[in-house]
Amino acid sequence: MSNECTLSIIKPDATRRNLTGAINKKIEDAGLHIVAQKRLRLTDDQAKKFYDVHKERPFYKDLVKFMTSGPVVVQVLEGKDAVALYRKVMGATNPANAEAGTIRAEFAESIEANSVHGSDSTDNAKREVGFFFSETELVG
Ligand code: GDP
Repeated sequence: MSNECTLSIIKPDATRRNLTGAINKKIEDAGLHIVAQKRLRLTDDQAKKFYDVHKERPFYKDLVKFMTSGPVVVQVLEGKDAVALYRKVMGATNPANAEAGTIRAEFAESIEANSVHGSDSTDNAKREVGFFFSETELVG
């Protein structure tokens, strides 16, 4: 894989603590380019749809509640192997297992309030980018 896009979400725990800039610095220091970005408040419907793949999981309801609890910043990151690279920059889902220096190791509060989302495959990245952005909003 070469140049590709991935969807990132800076979650409510991070916007609440004013960490958007600190997280963006980690993204840019890793060589990823923020080619689209907007701050918004997810509706209940949007959060449910976005996390539809998890609807059978026990934490689904809590996750939707958390993701609608405050503003988020949705962004498209572009770069070489952006999907896999951003997963590395984020660190493991559970911050207790996240490698030192990753966003989640430094900033996450818990396995749920873990500061960022990143697409986990190129197919999901296409779907998730399309969920929030139109083609003309991506400015590389
Ligand atoms: P990710 O791809 O690393 O974000 O992890 P998943 O796709 O497995 O989970 C989606 C999101 O659900 C995570 O980022 C967490 O916010 C939340 N989550 C995952 N596992 C748990 C859990 O065991 N408990 C709770 N409360 N939330 C979880």
